[in-house]
Amino acid sequence: MAGYTSDVAKSHKKFTAALNRAKTRQACLSAYWKHKKEHENLLKKHLKEELADVNKKKAKIPYR
Ligand SMILES: [Zn+2]
Repeated sequence: MAGYTSDVAKSHKKFTAALNRAKTRQACLSAYWKHKKEHENLLKKHLKEELADVNKKKAKIPYR
């Protein structure tokens, strides 16, 4: 959880820096697409971990 938050913060920092450095329209867009991809991968990984937690907890609760 803490890992996810700081990974996202790092990714945003990288994106902001890249956007500040961008001198062309194309560079602005590619900074965005690169960040979007990274952001999506981090989120996907994070949700997968959370689902694993849910399933672990769920397995301990009996059917009724
Ligand atoms: Zn973002």
